[in-house]
Amino acid sequence: MASTAVPPAVPTGDMQVAVVTGVGEVELRSEPLPVIGAQDILVRVGACGLCTMERRLFSGEKQIYPVAPGHEVAGRVVEVGEQVVALPGTPRVGDLVAVDLLTRCGTCTTCRRGRSAVCRQPQGSALADGTISMGAGLADFVRVSASQAYVTGDIPVAQAAMGEPLACVVHSVRLSGMLAGDRVAVLGAGYMGRLHHALCRAWGAGSVGLVDVSSSRLEEAADGGADWTATPQTAGDIGGKADIVFVTAAAAGLFELAVEICDSGGTIVLYSAFPKDLTGSFGLDHFHHEEITVAGVYSQEPQDWRIAAGLLRSGALSDDLDRLVTARYSLETVADALQQATHTLVYRVLVGADTGA
Ligand SMILES: [Zn+2]
Ligand SMILES: [Zn+2]
Repeated sequence: MASTAVPPAVPTGDMQVAVVTGVGEVELRSEPLPVIGAQDILVRVGACGLCTMERRLFSGEKQIYPVAPGHEVAGRVVEVGEQVVALPGTPRVGDLVAVDLLTRCGTCTTCRRGRSAVCRQPQGSALADGTISMGAGLADFVRVSASQAYVTGDIPVAQAAMGEPLACVVHSVRLSGMLAGDRVAVLGAGYMGRLHHALCRAWGAGSVGLVDVSSSRLEEAADGGADWTATPQTAGDIGGKADIVFVTAAAAGLFELAVEICDSGGTIVLYSAFPKDLTGSFGLDHFHHEEITVAGVYSQEPQDWRIAAGLLRSGALSDDLDRLVTARYSLETVADALQQATHTLVYRVLVGADTGA
């Protein structure tokens, strides 16, 4: 579909960027516009999702201050570097893009094996005043290498801003080895659990059930098309055995539940981050004798992004993604957005110029 938007003029001057300065404290700072290199593009941020990291920084669970967070970004390209060639798939001025703000060194052993999700040397970056940047996507503009921007077509920007988490979920389902017809159980019916549900269904899972302690989340998952829903206590009875089990919540006991419901020959994916001191003790022969695979999944890789952008463009997940937008805020009201995301049960809270109003 051709873009009807008039490409905006190349912006100049300063921009606003949100900086978390302490527990529960965020301020908007004026920063010079990023200067793009020959291989870069400049993106006017339409929406930026608040992920777990933003919540941890704002709540004080992780205290790295001052810091400019925001890594789930989508927006329109307003400028491209002189060496960015207009090839098919290359972002051009006016395109809506989802941007990958993760840095990968490309030279460590894991990067060279194609496993850049666990790059040993991710490069940090900083704002002009030295403030640590963890994406710095809660801003008017972001700069990114053209190779790390993915054209989504003219879809709602809120959906495009789900490119990063969707790429993580593509990575997860890809590493799970799920095939069409497989029975899937997703432990955790939060945002990431729901994205797993949507993707597995789109890729032909035989059935997808969701498990959670929250009755409201289970009701919403059922509304969203889950084949079955259950609490951890009832999952075994209601859902039965599963070929693939995704653990997307960090509660104690969920890995034990995954082992209980994973069928012989199945795979358990540990998607969620767990408390560092959470351990478990298992009879190892079960994994050997039943051929159970346990896969850890941490982030995403360029090929996951390419697939995620393709899914966004196709519209196959459009209804699922719309259901997961809890609230939208302008950059000026970022403090309210962080309050809501930190202190209430949400799927995704989005911040940015395109508030969808
Ligand atoms: Zn994220
Ligand atoms: Zn690396």
